Amino acid sequence: MDISGNKVIGIYGGSFDPIHYGHLRTAVEVEAFFALDELRLMPCYQSPLKQGTRASAADRVAMLQLAIAAQTDWLCETCEIERQGSSYMVETLAMLKADLANSTLIVFIGMDAFNQLTHWYRWQQLFNYAHLAVITRPGVVPNNLDDFLANRLVSHAAALRTTTAGQLFFQTVTPLDISATHIRSLFSNHGNARFLLPDSVIAYINAHNLYRTI
Ligand code: ATP
Repeated sequence: MDISGNKVIGIYGGSFDPIHYGHLRTAVEVEAFFALDELRLMPCYQSPLKQGTRASAADRVAMLQLAIAAQTDWLCETCEIERQGSSYMVETLAMLKADLANSTLIVFIGMDAFNQLTHWYRWQQLFNYAHLAVITRPGVVPNNLDDFLANRLVSHAAALRTTTAGQLFFQTVTPLDISATHIRSLFSNHGNARFLLPDSVIAYINAHNLYRTI
């Protein structure tokens, strides 16, 4: 809860093509660190800044649901998949906030994604709807902050509970140098991806012949 007794909801978006332990460990750590009341993992339909995904939206959702099956308190948020088209985060947040007006939203993004933030559609308006928590990622250093971002930076997570939106925070998580790109290339090269992602997701990939070619 925030200081007004409102729910604090974490939104962790991505392609999840496929979901892996870099995502899952991050989710465990931020849920605990920010004492989230709810955590939603949100596969995009089409990332505006990335090439199309390799697996279909339905397969990415299925893999995500398998991966979080034991985490009964986590949700797979499918609003971007249902909306289709380019998954502009600002539009997603406006939509979510319409239903969650009394909640504080914290959007989690990795450092690599954050370094592209100023290319996102109407990126400054994200802060009208949510706080942004940037997750460290091995080998990725932050770009210099412009004045808009520097003015929003807070150094204590508790600050995110004093307002419902508008602040920026950097959060260190256990560094796991795992990427979906590497996992896809292992599958296409008959490599072994075990322990980079859950066995249930590996079984799904094999059963559905995903990522056979690069
Ligand atoms: P790809 O290799 O296909 O670009 P990815 O592994 O970066 O994919 P995404 O689904 O694009 O995975 O990531 C979703 C979010 O999770 C992004 O904000 C990304 O920065 C973050 N993320 C991905 N992998 C890690 C990791 N190993 N540690 C911390 N954050 C991560």
